[in-house]
Amino acid sequence: MDKHAAARLLETIASYQELKGENPFKVRAFANAARTVESLPGDLEDALASGELAATKGIGPATLEVVRELAAGGRSSLLDSLRREVPDGLVEMMKIAGLGVTKIRALHEQLRISTVAELELAARNGRLAALPRFGEKTAERILRGIEFLRRTSAFRLSHDAARAAVRLREALAALPGVARAEIAGSVRRRAEVSRDLDFALACGPGVGDLQTRLAGVANVIGVEAVGDAAFRLRLDDDTSADVYAAPPERFGHCLAWATGSAAHLEKLAARAAASGLRLDAGGLTRAGTAVPCPDEPAFFAALGLACIPPELREGGEEVDRAAAGTLPRLIELGDLRGLLHCHSVYSDGANTVAELAEACRAAGYGYLGLTDHSIAAAYAGGLREDAVARQHAEIDALNAGRDGFRVLKGIEADILADGALDYGPDLLDRFDFVIGSVHSRMEQDRATMTARVLRAMDDPHLTILGHPTGRLLLGRDPYPVDLDAVIAKAAGRKVAIEINADPQRLDLDWRRCRQARDAGVAIAIGADAHSLAGLENMAFGVGVARRGWLEAGDVLNTLQAEEFLARARARREP
Ligand SMILES: [Zn+2]
Ligand SMILES: [Zn+2]
Repeated sequence: MDKHAAARLLETIASYQELKGENPFKVRAFANAARTVESLPGDLEDALASGELAATKGIGPATLEVVRELAAGGRSSLLDSLRREVPDGLVEMMKIAGLGVTKIRALHEQLRISTVAELELAARNGRLAALPRFGEKTAERILRGIEFLRRTSAFRLSHDAARAAVRLREALAALPGVARAEIAGSVRRRAEVSRDLDFALACGPGVGDLQTRLAGVANVIGVEAVGDAAFRLRLDDDTSADVYAAPPERFGHCLAWATGSAAHLEKLAARAAASGLRLDAGGLTRAGTAVPCPDEPAFFAALGLACIPPELREGGEEVDRAAAGTLPRLIELGDLRGLLHCHSVYSDGANTVAELAEACRAAGYGYLGLTDHSIAAAYAGGLREDAVARQHAEIDALNAGRDGFRVLKGIEADILADGALDYGPDLLDRFDFVIGSVHSRMEQDRATMTARVLRAMDDPHLTILGHPTGRLLLGRDPYPVDLDAVIAKAAGRKVAIEINADPQRLDLDWRRCRQARDAGVAIAIGADAHSLAGLENMAFGVGVARRGWLEAGDVLNTLQAEEFLARARARREP
């Protein structure tokens, strides 16, 4: 069992225990263990075998025992017995916004509700509103929460989908007769969430036989033919995958067809028709004869187009721009010079400043913009003034001993309810740069929230507006805020806007990136890393930037450290 699956089961155990009314320390131990396992830098089995996991902060004897059991056989006897005691439906209810453990237990004990369907019924027929401490407003909120859960639960976050796709691609590539297997669809386009997975296969003749071979792939529990050479796989985790197959000489078409959004494929088909070709699921043909296109460059060339990066294949202007030869040179991970937005043990991160710095240097970055939480984020160990002084002394010592690589003194300051930053100007002056983020009072109305964020940008210390809508993908809608006004103000005040690269956030949304760039706003890609593993978030942030048509020059942290610092300083000078 891999660490991500083990972490999910540890979280599930914590939820069951909470519902059962277990000791809160016990519950927290499992929740902490889940986070620790998830952020392990290496392999779970290795960490168990070497004793590294046993020595890790956040793992105790009881949780270690469960992890061992999970790693050995994929099961936990503790979880099995909890499942017998607590109905599954109650655990599902914990995902509904506005429903905590206390309310769920009250519903179960007083109304005998054990499933989400029963909950919905009670919220509609007034039984729920009649309970003490519930009321009409709570019933309405719960109905909205159920609707949200339904709308989003079939999707997966990009990092989960990508991980599943990588695993399945390997299994497909290993099938006899398969010359090439590639990930396609929304995962290849680096969409923020994905429903099912898509793959393109190059294989020899005998596609009928392919169906049998696909049925033998691990985790596949059903195969259905959905076209001449397309199959839908049902997987044992309740997800599905579509597989498109073609002979090697037509693989370019197959991969492009399996990758593009419907709107993009429509534009390609129109382009083909205009030049006497025919493009459909079956292939690219001229007068009934297949046009050879063994790879994507050949496929696009046959249409008179430059090869379009997968991230742009959404049906916007990409086909016209490819025809005109004016596609952008999209930013790449290697263009980034600095890693921004990173939490250390000083606030709620798992690693020391030295560990984070070393990992960034090893990954090829020239600087690390460290940004622990500020004092208002007390729940996340926000820094008091004395901690700031200690951290800065540590950073100075680290920088003195390094050749070229630098740690920058940043902070993720809270934007308070009225739009002020939570540190005073004298303390803010001591930082090299400041990210300002909204972490509280997200229920404010649109006008209040907009005024709050606009006011924060008047503070000359603010370098970057962090995760500008507060959304959690598949978890929490963005708070209401007038992004047009925020972007206009950011341009006027020369504040950068963050693409927060945490796969749960990916906020700024890719659909807004060009608008911000065209308004003259610099975009900062921030890892929002809370561990060494979180440093790898940067790749997801680059994916968003690429979907948003951004080039290296549009992104703040492609600058060298000195230029980056000069930008931050320039805002403070009157
Ligand atoms: Zn934040
Ligand atoms: Zn953060």
